Formats: sequence, C-alpha cells, structure tokens
Amino acid sequence: MKETEKPNIPVTRSSMPPFEEYIEEIHSLWDSHWLTNCGVKHQQLQSKLQEYLKVKHVEMFVNGHSAIEAILEAFNIQGEVITTSFTFVSTTNAIVRRGATPVFVDVEPEWLTIDPKKIEAAITSKTEAILAVHVYGNLCEIDEIQSIASKHGLKVIYDAAHAFGVTKNNVGALSFGDASAVSFHATKAFNTIEGGAACTSNSSLAQVMARNRNFGLDISGNCVEPGGNAKMNEFCAAMGLCNLRHVDEEIAKRKAAYDEYVDQLQGVPGVCLLKDQPGVKRNYAYMPVLIDPEKFGATRDDVFEALEREGVHTRKYFYPAINEMGWYKNRFVSDTPIASRAAKNVITLPLYADLSIENARQVSSIVKDAKNA
Ligand SMILES: *Cc1c(COP(=O)(O)O)cnc(C)c1O
Repeated sequence: MKETEKPNIPVTRSSMPPFEEYIEEIHSLWDSHWLTNCGVKHQQLQSKLQEYLKVKHVEMFVNGHSAIEAILEAFNIQGEVITTSFTFVSTTNAIVRRGATPVFVDVEPEWLTIDPKKIEAAITSKTEAILAVHVYGNLCEIDEIQSIASKHGLKVIYDAAHAFGVTKNNVGALSFGDASAVSFHATKAFNTIEGGAACTSNSSLAQVMARNRNFGLDISGNCVEPGGNAKMNEFCAAMGLCNLRHVDEEIAKRKAAYDEYVDQLQGVPGVCLLKDQPGVKRNYAYMPVLIDPEKFGATRDDVFEALEREGVHTRKYFYPAINEMGWYKNRFVSDTPIASRAAKNVITLPLYADLSIENARQVSSIVKDAKNA
C-alpha cells in the first residue's frame, strides 16, 4: 500500500437490502397512497417482529428514544429512577424529560451492566422504577433485578436499544422486565432507518402506549389523554420488512468479523474484551475493547489517535459517563467509579456486516502497535 492509501474504515455501516427489494416493497404504497398511521407495512412488520423477538406486544415508534419515554409515561413514573451512567444519553434524557429523577448506580466490571448488589442501597421512599441497560447487548442480571424490584414494588424497564435478537436460553431479551425499549436506528443491528419499539407482555400497557403515540386518541377518535405523535411511517416499516429478511445473515457476518477480533486481541496484555455470557445468543452489534493504560503501556486516547492516523474511525462509546457530561455534571446522586473508569478506557472498534476479516485483522494490528506509537 502507498503511504497515501489509508483504508478509511468507518466505525459502523448501516445494513441495507438490495435496492430492487426495497423498491418492490414500497410499490404498493403508490397504489394505496397510505403513507403512515399504522398501515399495512406497519402491521406486517409488527407481527413479524413479535414472532422474531419472541415477545407478545411490539409497539413501534418513530425511534427508540420515544419508546423509552412512552414506557415511562405509560407507567406514570415521576419519582426516582435507578439507572446507570454507562449508557447513551438517551436513557437518562428520557427519565429527565418525563419529569423523573435519575439515581446513578454503578456497573459490574465484566459486563458494564447495572450491578444488582448496589441497587438496594440506592432505593428511597421516592423510588418508582429501575431503568437498566443491556449495554452492547450484554444482558443485565434479570433475575436479581426482578427480585429486588418485586420486594420494593418497583417497575423494571430495560433500555434494550442494543439487544435486538439477543436471547437467553432461547427466551427473547425484549420480553424481560415490565417493558423494554429497542432501537431500530440506522446504526443498530437491525434498522428501519429511524425507528424503535416498546415491548411488553402487558396488554393494557401496550394499548396505552399505542394510543399515546397517536395523540392519545382512542378508536372512536376521542382524546383520552394528551398524547403526542411518534408513529412509524410506512417507508420505515417497509425498510424494516426488507432488513428483517436478511438480519440473520447480517448477524452471522458480524459474528465472523467479531470472532476475528477476538482471535487477534485475546490475551494481549492490557486489552480487555467483554466475555460471553452463559446461555446468551448475541447479536454482535458492537466491538467494545477496554484499554488498561498501565498494563497496555498506552491510553485509550492513544489507541484512538493511532487508529485515526491509519484511517480507521472508532468511537469512545460511551464517553464520558453521563454523570460527568455537560448538563448532568454534579446534578444527581451518583457514586459510579467503575462506570467512570470504563468510560475512560473503552473504545468501540469498527463492526458491521460488510467489514471484511482482513479489515478486522488490520484494525487489530494497529491496536496492538499503538503502544509503540
Ligand atoms: C440508540 C440508543 C438509544 C436511542 O435509540 P434511537 O432509536 O436512536 O432513538 C437509546 N439507548 C441506547 C443505549 C442507545 O444506544
């Protein structure tokens, strides 16, 4: 390779169906002129997702963030919500925007999901819910969380934005807790361009969420509650129908690249990979790596810069921890040293279905060489 020919590898690349397949899928919209408001594409995608995700109700939204807010709204959560600071800001913004108060509890070092052992100490008379995050598709300790919640009468809500298609012992991850929100954003393992869903087995909750995403109107057109507008349109649903046909293949391709990273980076001193979880089938949405600066001999930022110089674009995802970010700094109760440390050390390497094995190998060797740079 010439000096000037840098690989230019993005951190992610949206999955898209063949062009003709999408055109075929949207053809009928030109006959019907029905573009939104729970049309045929919306209904088809909803029922296919209920089957694929193994969950009773999948209420689709314009994006994943709206789905989180919809769940909090439907449960009328206004007090304290126990959550973590190692997440995307959407989780925490949803809590604040609904008028509730986040209380940050630390994460477990292995999975970076909420540490159930630290939840009870954070519960007060104002606590109403636990909003935990299946970070990178790593599942939270659902049984421990449920038993704490049951003991204290709290709702359990999962931000499952990263957990599309993840199962534990063949049970869909979106069926855990009282409700879960998943994202179908362009950058996620499955996309509808923009989109998301609130998943639950609670029929009356599903009904309330479906009503409130359409101005709070019931079937007779009566406004039961002052809802907003967060409906998924037919073009996005059509994209979802196409992408869903290919999602298993796409996940298998992600796994191949992921496995190459593991082969290349496993055992490198100071490069820490997240372990597999027993019984969990993953979706390989992300390739997070934690750099221990003492053991590795260079910092996460050094690795980030070394990769940038070679045309490899990565993300410090998530950095900084939410409770250290702009508006959130010193505003809410938090004691989260493990989350802060993870945020300082984490880097997510490029991972998408079309990433070649060769590229994964190249990226890995740049990471390994970063300590000499
Ligand atoms: C992507 C994401 C969201 C928000 O989903 P959108 O569909 O982009 O609104 C929420 N939480 C987490 C952890 C995410 O990664």
